[in-house]
Amino acid sequence: MAILVKTEQAEVTIVKEYVNDVFEQVKKRNPNEVEFHQAVKEVFDSLIPVLTKNTKYIHHGILERIVEPERMISFRVPWVDDQGNVKVNRGFRVQYNSAIGPYKGGLRFHPSVNASIIKFLGFEQIFKNALTGQPIGGGKGGADFDPKGKSDGEIMRFTQSFMTELSKYIGPDTDIPAGDIGVGAREIGYLFGQYKKIRGGYEAGVLTGKGVGYGGSLGRKEATGYGTVYFVDEMLKDKGLSFSGSTVIVSGSGNVSIYAIEKAVQLGAKVVACSDSSGYIYDKNGINLDTVKQLKEVEYKRISEYVNHHPEAEYHEGCAGIWSIPCDIALPCATQNEIDEAAAKQLVANNVKAIGEGANMPSTLEAISVFLENDVLFGPAKAANAGGVSVSALEMAQNSGRISWSFEDVDNKLQEIMKDIYESSKRSAAEYDVPGNFIVGANISGFTKVADAMISQGVI
Ligand code: GLU
Repeated sequence: MAILVKTEQAEVTIVKEYVNDVFEQVKKRNPNEVEFHQAVKEVFDSLIPVLTKNTKYIHHGILERIVEPERMISFRVPWVDDQGNVKVNRGFRVQYNSAIGPYKGGLRFHPSVNASIIKFLGFEQIFKNALTGQPIGGGKGGADFDPKGKSDGEIMRFTQSFMTELSKYIGPDTDIPAGDIGVGAREIGYLFGQYKKIRGGYEAGVLTGKGVGYGGSLGRKEATGYGTVYFVDEMLKDKGLSFSGSTVIVSGSGNVSIYAIEKAVQLGAKVVACSDSSGYIYDKNGINLDTVKQLKEVEYKRISEYVNHHPEAEYHEGCAGIWSIPCDIALPCATQNEIDEAAAKQLVANNVKAIGEGANMPSTLEAISVFLENDVLFGPAKAANAGGVSVSALEMAQNSGRISWSFEDVDNKLQEIMKDIYESSKRSAAEYDVPGNFIVGANISGFTKVADAMISQGVI
């Protein structure tokens, strides 16, 4: 360390040792949080070249500080089910980093939610949000509540109880939650209603992903899925390829997946499969998106029901098998670690050309290595799925200005943002001698922006 701080340039091996020491501290201080460790490892490994060239980041203790959330809240969420039973879930909000703006990030309602999941998501959000070029810091939250099979009344009572506590910690200039898995338009509506009732004022900018009738932005619903396709399209175009005429697999069937399918089809692709946490459907003629929307956005049903409407399609139990279907482009839009090493090898064996991560951390570290070693174009989550939070920031801007933009305006801005994210990831990758490695490029691009702001603001 003493040597490092005196020179501007350091030896790679010393930097690697230093990064490893900080990572060991992270593991020790956050035992058993494997998803969080994975997210930190991916970012840390990417940063070796930038830390070697610019030792100021080491001198200012940026790594040690950036892995520690500014604040993390955990709280009881009691509610009463339709039978009159008292239930208790655990709610979380991590306010991870506010160097470049107020905390911003979604809420996830899923039984797998715990401190590790919330911290991995919050940590990733810091760099993703910085990459968007918008003034937003990183945060995330949620609860280990399972919305599956719950009535509308149960969802509302749970959500209101969750907000009763969360409302103490959020606000349009401090922390702005939005949706994620299990939190869509319906839940955001109930959350906003409860917040408004508690505060006694109409603070529209406290949540994003609101309905367009009460302060939401046109184009927000579509933004994550469309953005993922826009990002992949940039990667393809650079190689003289395109979506047109290609076969695509999109895992999941929630908000991200639905609009990734929609945009891919608009660009001339055939999307043959999608899934939910129970299984996947394969429709070799191309999925009927209207049916998926009806089942998932309106009826809250399982994807298995798709075959009742389209008997020519196949339904398979279990999600992993979706990656064995031959495709040119794979868009994992379901959840973390859905593509492991075996699935990645299967995709490569089937000649996949590009991967675009619509979900957060859908590929394991081993799967990523398989893609990179085989020269598959790889759009990492922090870059490829940043369209959602980008349009959330546009929603905040509209709320502050008490104005609303047209769908076309928002979609054009989204396309520009995704192009900029692609260009800056590509530039950073080239600058640090790993051309085409958008993981390293995106991580470095997001990191330097946040780290420089942290240095300017002193040790806080
Ligand atoms: N949950 C989304 C994400 O992972 C969106 C967050 C937001 O709009 O604040 O980026």
